[in-house]
Amino acid sequence: MGFENNKGIFIFIQQVDNKITNVSFELIGKGKELAADLGAEVTAVLLGYKVKSLADELAAYGADKVILVDDPALEIYTTEAYTHGMYSVIERYNPEIVLYGATAIGRDLAPRVSARVHTGLTADCTKLEVDPETKYLRMTRPAFGGNIMATILCPNFRPQMATVRPGVMQKLKKIEGAKANIKEFNPGFEKNHKYVEVLDVIKKPSSKIDIQEANILVSGGRGVGSKENFKLLEELADTIGGTISSSRASVDAGWQDKEVQVGQTGKTVRPHVYFAIGISGAIQHLAGMEESDVIIAINKDPYAPIFDVADYGVVGDLNQIVPILTEKIKAE
Ligand code: FAD
Repeated sequence: MGFENNKGIFIFIQQVDNKITNVSFELIGKGKELAADLGAEVTAVLLGYKVKSLADELAAYGADKVILVDDPALEIYTTEAYTHGMYSVIERYNPEIVLYGATAIGRDLAPRVSARVHTGLTADCTKLEVDPETKYLRMTRPAFGGNIMATILCPNFRPQMATVRPGVMQKLKKIEGAKANIKEFNPGFEKNHKYVEVLDVIKKPSSKIDIQEANILVSGGRGVGSKENFKLLEELADTIGGTISSSRASVDAGWQDKEVQVGQTGKTVRPHVYFAIGISGAIQHLAGMEESDVIIAINKDPYAPIFDVADYGVVGDLNQIVPILTEKIKAE
């Protein structure tokens, strides 16, 4: 299949400071699955400045092709320039489906592009599948504050567009040494990049690891009892190189920031190890963590639903168990 009018699946690749965000690889993985059902190919759309060297990494994670739009106007993200870039790619190559990560950038960009190309957008999807009969994309997302799951189709307009929550889809295994099939395309930017001028970029100090990038999460719930008592969990996390996360109850109580909330209305995580400490295992919490490789639960209630998904469970008081666990690991 050529690049022109390929009716394929296009993935917007989000890169910041020449580093591709994880959700872009996850979307390539999901795109390959959808592509198999549609007999289509997955094209990564890479916008930026001096970013050509990133293309092979996209191929390594499964992209069949890469469309590269490389221009000084794209060095720093601005809505205008990136909208113009994505709009031009869509107009020229006519994809069937376009996917974006539901990140701050994706949530800003995708609605602008969808309005420009006169199509719909399903935001914040947690599930994507091809309808076996119609071949339309079935886009599922939580609605009404997460109380129902809504499945949305876009039969009459093209492309079908969605933003997808980071951490929900799975990236493919990396193929070392893969070489990208690149098509360079530049629609010209000067005239279309005049309303916004970036004077300065002030970066948030990032001493904390994003819970979606962490390998080990030590997550605390209402059972922890207080903000101060989270120190027990922090000591365990420090000992094993973990990161603190929490249930919504701990966030609502003001013990933890919303940005570390796991679950349906928080973040979806997939670490190697997930400690659920003083967390009951409500369905809305499980929705955000049950794909973790190994789940270890500590809870004083032997009937807590968290034990249904746990690989290892300890029934008992976390105030006794967590310090013992930390000491034992330190002694190893
Ligand atoms: P609880 O359910 O109160 O559980 C506390 C647990 O700690 C209990 O199992 C108890 O046995 C145990 N415990 C108590 N003391 C100790 C001790 N000393 N030692 C050991 N164990 C102890 N929740 C989320 O987490 N994330 C979400 O994104 C989310 N989204 C939601 C969206 C909607 C629309 C709704 C309706 C709810 C949502 N919730 C979410 C809330 C969810 O339903 C639960 O209320 C919440 O997950 C409970 O948090 P928890 O497990 O920390 O608290």
